[in-house]
Amino acid sequence: MKMTLPRRLLLGAALAMGLAGTAAAEFPERQITLVIPFAAGGSTDVVGRIVADRMSKSLGQQVIVQNVGGAGGSLGGQQVAKADPDGYTILMGTVATHALNPLILKQKPYDPVTDFAPVSLLVLVPNVLAVHPDLPVNTVQELIDLAKKEQLAYASSGNGTPLHLSGELFKSMAGVDITHIPYKGSGPALTDVLGNQVPIIFDNLPSSSGHIASGKLKALGVTTKERAPSFPDVPAIAETLPGYETYSWNALFAPASTPPEAIAALNKAALEAMADPEVAKRMGEFSATIVASSPEDLGKHVTAEMAKWEPVVKAANVSLD
Ligand code: GLU
Repeated sequence: MKMTLPRRLLLGAALAMGLAGTAAAEFPERQITLVIPFAAGGSTDVVGRIVADRMSKSLGQQVIVQNVGGAGGSLGGQQVAKADPDGYTILMGTVATHALNPLILKQKPYDPVTDFAPVSLLVLVPNVLAVHPDLPVNTVQELIDLAKKEQLAYASSGNGTPLHLSGELFKSMAGVDITHIPYKGSGPALTDVLGNQVPIIFDNLPSSSGHIASGKLKALGVTTKERAPSFPDVPAIAETLPGYETYSWNALFAPASTPPEAIAALNKAALEAMADPEVAKRMGEFSATIVASSPEDLGKHVTAEMAKWEPVVKAANVSLD
């Protein structure tokens, strides 16, 4: 209690000396770093760069992208959790960083609720099961049949990601054993599948859609309950394995205790970006559904998603390689 009065006096003196002007300065005054917790070329990177570019225009300051891949997104998540809470370092979070990592990874480098200030849920993203065109299967059932005869492997964007969960849920529901090979993001995972070093990938649709459209990857099924609007000919895996469902999402987070003015400015810029018809067109091409939420609704979404995936992670018997 002894400290209370002098501190108040100090603050009063600082305000009287004109420092109040500094505190009230417009956010942002300099460039912002958007940490992408996965390697370049993955879905989070693709979505993140489109959003960062458009937010730069709204904010009048550059939003630069920094890829910090590894540990299923938790390295990048940890970097932002520990960053100065001033709004100048933010995270392109996903279902991996804010729901699955804490459920799957043994090491918990941060708390997705208490270590972050939510900014906006941006998009919901379908995932896809795709194979190299040389793999002699054209349907989910044919893949299941082949996996019962041969030892196959699938690539994912890392332990603790929705792609890892997608693969393990598939294995447990189909009764097959396929070896999991984790990467630092879908970008490097895709490189190896396109080169046929690994025959199967579970990926987010945004990063695979171009390769599926050009025939470099054969899509067997999407992971959402329903088919994806941009690929109506690709069945849902649930058509073969009823009840199968996974998906991903992208959302912006700042470190906990970031000033509300900075959160409000970032949220406004994010909503403006998602309302831009050019951004909407790009998102539509890979069936990412725009949500563009308030910070409060993103907070509720994170809590709901952690509860939703807990039984699925258990049912899928996800283990670390
Ligand atoms: N596959 C994604 C990427 O490499 C990350 C996984 C996720 O969607 O959470 O960007």
